[in-house]
Amino acid sequence: MKILVVNAGSSSLKYQLIDMDGEKELAKGLVERIGIEGSRLKHSAGEKSTVVEEAIPDHEAAAQLMLKILQDPEYGVIRSTDEIGAVGHRVLHGGNKFTASMLVNADVKAAIRECFPLGPLHNPANLMGIEACEKVMKGTPQVAVFDTAFHQTMPPKAYMYGVPKMYEEKLHVRRYGFHGTSHRYVSRWVCEFLGISPIGKKIIICHLGNGSSLSAVMDGKCQDTSMGLTPLEGLLMGTRCGSCDPAVVQFMANNPLKEDGTPLGHPISVDEVLNIMNKKSGLLGISGKSSDCRDIDDLAAAGDENAILAQEMLVYGIKKYIGSYAAAMGGVDIICFTAGIGENNDALRAKVIEGLEFMGAELDPEKNKGRGEKVISKDGSKVTVCVIPTNEEIMIARDTLDLVTTGKVRDH
Ligand code: ADP
Repeated sequence: MKILVVNAGSSSLKYQLIDMDGEKELAKGLVERIGIEGSRLKHSAGEKSTVVEEAIPDHEAAAQLMLKILQDPEYGVIRSTDEIGAVGHRVLHGGNKFTASMLVNADVKAAIRECFPLGPLHNPANLMGIEACEKVMKGTPQVAVFDTAFHQTMPPKAYMYGVPKMYEEKLHVRRYGFHGTSHRYVSRWVCEFLGISPIGKKIIICHLGNGSSLSAVMDGKCQDTSMGLTPLEGLLMGTRCGSCDPAVVQFMANNPLKEDGTPLGHPISVDEVLNIMNKKSGLLGISGKSSDCRDIDDLAAAGDENAILAQEMLVYGIKKYIGSYAAAMGGVDIICFTAGIGENNDALRAKVIEGLEFMGAELDPEKNKGRGEKVISKDGSKVTVCVIPTNEEIMIARDTLDLVTTGKVRDH
């Protein structure tokens, strides 16, 4: 069966068509600037690629264009949309309602809508993506795969915040965690890769990309994760500040600064502070130059002190989470690096593991060099350190196939 994987953002729609017979990617693409001037589609299938520039007013038009290019005589890979057996959608927030992926029906859509306040930027866009595909592919099953689902096994002591309990009971204010599909994929695949069972194993996954999160996984189940009610909590990220004293929000709201560092002269709202914390902080805010870790590395190598500080803060934060998760689980057997930074930045991996010999993690500098799926710790290191490239799309496609063929999601 061919499965289409869709990740809809507020002005974008990413897709990948996967042939589940052999799990081969047939085509992928990105519709950008939906509803904005300059909208376009970038599409590739094997060696061939193309860009289509035309007005794309809404998500339905984006879905139409995606189907058109997938059937294009030159760049397409299918003759008819009937070849698409089902569509799997990435959905950011499932609140505390979803512990696994779901076949989309009216109740599931209503629940995604109920989670709008928890994921105000993503959930409305994700639902638009689902509804657009329903319209242009009438009768094709749609599946929702939630970024939060894998983390629903966290115990209350890990997911509760220390605010009055009624906020959790009435308004569901608690830790949810994100990147769940990636954490699930990597925590499963690393065990297959090492030829071991996840049962009895304590694993720390470091998903380090533009957005970054760590998770503590024991017996294959998530025990804790660094992102919270929203993806803002936890590590320093590309443009997000990560965890800080909540009182900083009030202080910044009362004493805001202009871009040039001079006082703005009047208070700003909490929403405006959160905008700074989400979009102007992290590597970008500390370096003042870039949110991209490659640029930070180049700047640091050239002696830029702010870039060096940003690098140090990122590494220090990852180390602290590894230490705390090892303590929380009573040890750690495997540490896994994944996503853009985790998979590609061997120098950062080395800095993170440096100094963790006391807990049995010893890096092999030769094995750590370069990319790809591999063990990077020394033979005999008590903790096995690995790089596992993530593949959220394949996980979404597998869940989708399971749900449309058996009605149940396997633990794959
Ligand atoms: P997203 O969270 O948007 O999916 P990614 O997982 O693609 O992000 O990660 C983006 C980060 O990964 C950037 O900071 C970038 O510098 C880093 N990165 C991506 N590719 C490479 C590479 N080949 N070498 C070093 N760093 C990389």
